[in-house]
Amino acid sequence: MLAKIKHVSNGIHFRVLMLVVGVAVTLVAAQFVTDTVVETQKVQDQRLVEARSMTNVVARSLEKQFDFFELSDIEEILKSVRTSEHVKQVSAVDREFTFFLDGDPVTPTLLPSGDSAQQTKAIETSKPTFEITEDAITVVEPLLRGGQSIGAVMIRFENPKFSEVMWPILKTNFFSLIPILTLGIMLAGVLVNQITKPLLSLANSAKLVAQGDLDRSMPVEGPNEIRQLGHAFSGMIGKLKENIEQIYELAYVDRTTQLPNREFFRKELTRAIRRAVRQKVTGALLFVDLDGFKRVNDTHGHDAGDMILSQFSERLANVLRAEDLIAFKAMNAMETEAGDSEKANKNKQMLARLGGDEFTVLLSEIREATDAATVSQRIIDAVSLPFDVNGTKVNIGASVGIAIFPKDGSDYQTILKSADMAMYQAKEEGKNTYRYFSEELNQEAARRMEIEQDLRVALENNNELELYYQPKIHCGTALPKSAEALIRWKHPEKGMIQPLDFINVAEDCGLILPLGRWILLQACQQLKKFEDAGIDISIAVNISTAQFERPDLSNIVIEVLEETGANPANLELELTESMAMQNPDIALNHINILKKLGVRFAIDDFGTGYSNLSQLSRLPFDVFKIDRSFVDKLTNRDDEHGRVIVKTILGMANSLNYETVAEGVETISQLEFLTEYGCTYAQGYYFARPMPSQEFTQWYTAWKKQDKSVMAAMMRQGAAA
Ligand code: C2E
Ligand code: MG
Ligand code: MG
Repeated sequence: MLAKIKHVSNGIHFRVLMLVVGVAVTLVAAQFVTDTVVETQKVQDQRLVEARSMTNVVARSLEKQFDFFELSDIEEILKSVRTSEHVKQVSAVDREFTFFLDGDPVTPTLLPSGDSAQQTKAIETSKPTFEITEDAITVVEPLLRGGQSIGAVMIRFENPKFSEVMWPILKTNFFSLIPILTLGIMLAGVLVNQITKPLLSLANSAKLVAQGDLDRSMPVEGPNEIRQLGHAFSGMIGKLKENIEQIYELAYVDRTTQLPNREFFRKELTRAIRRAVRQKVTGALLFVDLDGFKRVNDTHGHDAGDMILSQFSERLANVLRAEDLIAFKAMNAMETEAGDSEKANKNKQMLARLGGDEFTVLLSEIREATDAATVSQRIIDAVSLPFDVNGTKVNIGASVGIAIFPKDGSDYQTILKSADMAMYQAKEEGKNTYRYFSEELNQEAARRMEIEQDLRVALENNNELELYYQPKIHCGTALPKSAEALIRWKHPEKGMIQPLDFINVAEDCGLILPLGRWILLQACQQLKKFEDAGIDISIAVNISTAQFERPDLSNIVIEVLEETGANPANLELELTESMAMQNPDIALNHINILKKLGVRFAIDDFGTGYSNLSQLSRLPFDVFKIDRSFVDKLTNRDDEHGRVIVKTILGMANSLNYETVAEGVETISQLEFLTEYGCTYAQGYYFARPMPSQEFTQWYTAWKKQDKSVMAAMMRQGAAA
């Protein structure tokens, strides 16, 4: 409170207002004093006139009494004078001062008077005299007879005082002055406000600018001078911004490539490592060094070298997704708002030139360490095309060292050193390649590289890949209503490779798109065969993230349906929760287009994606597939927790009118539990494993032929197999 009062009293508004009030009060006071002085003088003059005329009247009447020397009569006259208003004292003397009367019959008549000097003077000169002192006006009039003075009369009146005059003036002025004063102060307040308000908003903006908000515009309002001040401030800030940008550019941007330099990179990497440690995520640093750059410099000159460096940096930028690059312009914001940049830098990639032919790529957050290999390979591929140096084609390569943080180090120096060492390893192992700092990641990368190469061949050969089908059985009728298509890869040397071992590799290297289309085509061709053979069964196809993110997915599905002539109503697409939630707009678009044709949609592996249920339920899915891990928990009858989860999922799905499929049903007890709590379909080894299409058709015919009791027996056999 005290601080607030202090703040207000220190403000310009308060001070100017106080000044105005002070001046007004001083003016009013001066006016009041002058009025009072003038009025006092006026009252005094009046009193003197009154005193003289009264003394004159008394003198004239006393002159008659003096003839008879009736002292008691004179005393009586003086007594009446004495009691008059403003009269302090009265006295009369004869020429010889034989008597002295003062209007009080009790006092003696012969006392010598202290006022005799004035009376003597009046007697001698036969003229009236008067004297004004601070508190009295004394008038003496001679008593005349035949032009001779026979005595004198003196009356002393009260002299009006300043304070006596002041009060009536103050009282009369009070009621007129106060409203005028109040009005004046209010007017002054408004005027002062008009000046101080723009000044205050200017001061506030200047404060924010001083705190680093250089994008704030200065208010230009109020009186001319303040507007000029606002304009001047704006100009100053503009210049300041320009200068800061220049300073940043000099300090943080590499001149040749216009990329962030080592210093900026150091800050960003340090920030990214801290974030990764705090949020328990993984990031990668790629250390890129050009192979044979020295040779180019030596043979073509340094200018040619610079041209290659700048072309290379452009290619690097193209490799990394442009929208994820940390732009140089964003640096200011990052410097000031660490909190916001945290969010903004998630998944961001940054390029920098450390010097010479050394570049770094920072991947702030990656899903898996092996993702860094994909980016590295893209960089190496981007360098494989020749560079243009003044019309001459120049070939160079790139070696990339990869360090993963915080695994390979949790500070700038260590990570940079790890990536540098990995880069030397890449150079030693023949250049134009990438290496991880960690050996196990090198092996993993090699394995994935091999899979990628083999998968390309497999896609072309068309005899290594095959779709298997696994039925989904209706819990009530025990009839197979649909089948899930699951890819199998029969590798000529490595044997059967499971989808989980190559689908993610295919996703990372982009092969998933041709592979996905191939799967869709195979499944729809099979669907058509089922339809033609009168087998009433629909087919569910798994769609991967990379496919689903493509805006042309719905077109591809429509194309394939038309090509094969399969009935869209018999096609179901399975997506995981995270896929649907990552980009709900794209998801909704695909779902809306395809649902119009009759295609159905299922959420796969439900319960593993930690999705926002209310958001998820807004997407018009038809089926929830409960993840195998939950069905697995039903095996153990004591696992009450697992049973509650399954019951809850089923209850929720039913109340939202979704069909449900339980994945991985392996036992009759699981099936019984699921059936009891309203699960629509069950899929799992209890009924059948995924099978090649021909085998599936045989299984289907046999299953349909059986009556219920045989079916139950077959179910048990399935579980035992
Ligand atoms: P998913 O879509 O959840 O498929 C179900 C997986 O559970 C299949 O594994 C299936 O063989 C297995 N499974 C079915 N019943 C049982 C059971 O009773 N017990 C056990 N232990 N497992 C059972 P699979 O075929 O190895 O596929 C694994 C995953 O690979 C699939 O999970 C799916 O995400 C992906 N995938 C498979 N085929 C394709 C495909 O054609 N395209 C795409 N994009 N992904 C596929
Ligand atoms: Mg599936
Ligand atoms: Mg699944």
